[in-house]
Amino acid sequence: MEKSANYREILLAMRRDVMREISGNTLAAREMAQGDVPDIGDMSCATYERDVLLNLSEVQRQKVRDIDAALARLEQGEYGVCLGCGEEIPQKRMEVRPFSRYCVECKTEVERFGE
Ligand SMILES: [Zn+2]
Repeated sequence: MEKSANYREILLAMRRDVMREISGNTLAAREMAQGDVPDIGDMSCATYERDVLLNLSEVQRQKVRDIDAALARLEQGEYGVCLGCGEEIPQKRMEVRPFSRYCVECKTEVERFGE
């Protein structure tokens, strides 16, 4: 039980961090979109930077979804169990990526063949 409590704290802290980053990026992207654009060269640069920020946010949004899914599995007592083989995911891996759904072997399979 102690183990689950720790992971919940870690996941919630990660979620807070990502949410802070996302709101920062959204603000920056909005400011860029509204900023004065003196010439074409600057415009393409500003557009590029905005795209980068928006893509970054998408990656971060995905991370929030992963974290939420991990929190849900924690509630259901399925946390840390591989969705592929049903074995417990090694703790070392869970410490590196607390929202892991697969053990390393199954993750490799999933990446090669899709979920
Ligand atoms: Zn597995």
